Order: sequence, then structure tokens, then C-alpha cells
Amino acid sequence: MTDIKVRFAPSPTGYMHIGNTRTAVFNWLLAKKLGGKFMLRIDDTDVLRSKKEYEDALRDVLQWMGFNWDEEARQSARLDRYNEVVEKLKSQGRVYACYETAEELEVMRKRLMSRGLPPIYDRSALRLTAEQIAAYEAEGRKPHYRFKLVEGEISWNDMIRGECRYDAAKLADPVIIRADGSYLYHLPSVIDDVDFGITHIIRGEDHVTNTALQIQMFLTIGGKLPEFGHLPLLTGAEGKLSKRLGSLGVRELREEGVEALAISSFLAKLGTSEAIEPFYDLESLAASLDFGKLGRSQPKFSVEELQTFNTHYVRSLPFAMVKDRINVDEDFWNTLRGNLNKVSDVADWQDICCQKLKPVIEDADLTSRAASILPPEPWDENTYSAWVSELKSVSGKSGKNLFHPLRMALTAAPQGPELKVLLPLLGRQKVYDRLLGKEA
Ligand code: GLU
Repeated sequence: MTDIKVRFAPSPTGYMHIGNTRTAVFNWLLAKKLGGKFMLRIDDTDVLRSKKEYEDALRDVLQWMGFNWDEEARQSARLDRYNEVVEKLKSQGRVYACYETAEELEVMRKRLMSRGLPPIYDRSALRLTAEQIAAYEAEGRKPHYRFKLVEGEISWNDMIRGECRYDAAKLADPVIIRADGSYLYHLPSVIDDVDFGITHIIRGEDHVTNTALQIQMFLTIGGKLPEFGHLPLLTGAEGKLSKRLGSLGVRELREEGVEALAISSFLAKLGTSEAIEPFYDLESLAASLDFGKLGRSQPKFSVEELQTFNTHYVRSLPFAMVKDRINVDEDFWNTLRGNLNKVSDVADWQDICCQKLKPVIEDADLTSRAASILPPEPWDENTYSAWVSELKSVSGKSGKNLFHPLRMALTAAPQGPELKVLLPLLGRQKVYDRLLGKEA
């Protein structure tokens, strides 16, 4: 049996967004589920657009999500290897030089289209004579290179889309090296997948045609194929995933308090026949992975839904999962979590409940009366409403005139956690002292 190895291959030309995060989620979970290895490959052949800052941010997000990797590679460090393979392919007649300029190619393309033909490169470069090539070179033209497809059917059994078939005659020989000598995505990706022994490739369905082209490269270079799975792309509420949503940064979501496992749980089930529900560890999420449950239609992604799911997630988090991040005990957490929107909100409550506070007394008459009618403990979530309704009748005050002075005395701030939840957490003594203006 071959060793399973899955990879995530981002281009460091932008920050991690919801689309490539989803690809990372599926690849990582698959590696985990199959007990294989996970590799991080940095696709940085585009030197102008690739930036260290983006790469650092990608790594940061992967680590935060818990997607540790067993191995990594960087394409810009492997150019010698790519050149070596290209030389071999040239000698086999599978890579050939072309001298057309971009404008000439555009004219050819338009001519074909106007005749109702698909814009497939006609391989005229293969018919150039030595003199013509010499003339181009003398003119200073630099060749770009194409990979020559062989005729026949290209097929694979996609983990998500099922049987896929392409007729090679209907595909254009892909350009693999630009006239400036830089590599396009196709060939380096295949060379890496072969050299590193990648067994499964999960990526967006925008890569389906690339897969057809790459299959011939795989067969030529490596002799065998990995498994492929193409994920239906996410869409926004109005159809295509808008630029704003598509580029929605995971860093921003994290700053807003969205939990890493909420993102993984959400993305792994979006567009499947299963309900989106909280998973509290990646292992069980991985165990639940089933590509057969992914639909073929493009799932709608909405940040609001993710945020709502996250709130639900935060409110259900077991203490063990947050205890290293917060400074309260289990009882406090359990009482409180149902009121939080993000885990870090717990700090507001903690300051109010566990630290000494100088109360702000706005209406001494009201707050001392409130103190005098405090019910005895034990207190629960109903204590507040019974107490307040009695205060209403004895003081004749209501609305803001009632609630604002209470809040200012108990929390010293005009806004904050719900008082009915706060009361039992504070306890009778603290509430009593604060209502009387004592630091407590
Ligand atoms: N760097 C490519 C991308 O981000 C990788 C695609 C692939 O998975 O092969 O689209």
C-alpha cells in the first residue's frame, strides 16, 4: 500500500480567505482521516506577486486552525528540478518552443472564434523551419514553451464529481513557461506532486480542466495518477462569491472572535447533506468526512451565517476547551457562556465580577432602597426580575431611571453584561456593598 500524502498548495499572493481555507480544511481532514501525511507547498513561482508577508500570514492561519504539516516545500527553490524535467520532456518531443507574440495569438484566437471553432492553438510552432527560428531569435524574440498533449480520451474518477472525461483533441497545449522564462502553474505543480508522492488532490472545481491537462503530465512524468476531488465553488447570496466575500480574510474573522473550530466545522459541512453542527476537535470532524455527502451544486456562503454559527458554538464550548484562554473557573464559565458572543467577552464579566470596583451612584435613594430589599440567597437567573419588580413598586421608578442607576452601581459602566445573569455571579454581599456605594 502506498503511503497517503495530501497537500495544500497556496500561492502567497494574498491573505488566507474563506475559499482557500476551505480547500485547506478538506485536505487536512482527508489526510487525518486516512492516517496520512499533510504537506504544505508554497506555490511562489510568481515572484512579482508572491510576498513573505502573505506567506507568514498563511502559516499563521494554518497553525491557528490546528492544521499542522509534516513536510513543506517551496516552488521557487525547485527551479533546477523543473528545468531538468523540461529538458527531458523537450527531448521526448512533449515540450516545444513557440514564438508567437501575445498579439499574434490573440489574432489567431479571434480568427478561430469567428469561424465558430474552439480557440485551440494550431501547433504552428511545430512547423517552423530552422531559418524561421533563427530569424525570430535574431529579432530578439524569446520563446515560450507548451506541453504537447497526445490524442485520446483523458478520464478519471473524481472523488466528488464521479466519472470525468475529456477529449484531448478539444484542449489546447498549455503554455508552461512564459517568454520571460518564468513557470506557469501546471508543470511545477505536477512535478512536485510526483516527486513528493502526493496521493490525493482536493481543490476547487475551477481546476477541473487543469486536471485534464495535468493528467497527461502526470502520466508522462510519474507514470501514475493521484486521486482527484474537485469541490464545488462557494457562492454568495447573489450568485458568484463576491470579491468582498471571496477575499474575506480569516485573520479578520479571528479578530472578530470567530473560533478556528467553528470555521472548520462550518466549512466542512457546508454544501453537504449533513447538518452544520459544532465539532470540538479536528479528529472527530475528520472521522466524519465523507465526500459522498458533498452535493454537486455550489453552496451559498454567508458570513452572517458563519457568525451566527460561531455564537452558537461559543455558547456550547466545554470549559476544558477554553480554560487556557480565560481566567475564570468552570462554574463561572458554565453560568456565563450562554450570554457570550465570543470567548474573549468573558473578560468583561470577569472584571466586573472578580475585581474590586468603585461603584457610580447616580440615585442614592433608589440604590439604597434596592439594597434594603435584596432577597436572601441562593440566587439564580430569576432573582433579578423579582427584585426589580418589587423595586419598581416601592420606588415608583421605571425604565431608564430605574435600570441605569442599578447598572452604574453594580458595574460602573453604562453598558455591559445582562444584569440578570450578573446578579448570581456577583453574589449578595457584593451587590449589597456596591448598591451602597462601597468599593467591592
Ligand atoms: N497554487 C494553486 C492554487 O492556489 C494550487 C492548485 C492546486 O491545488 O493544484 O490555485
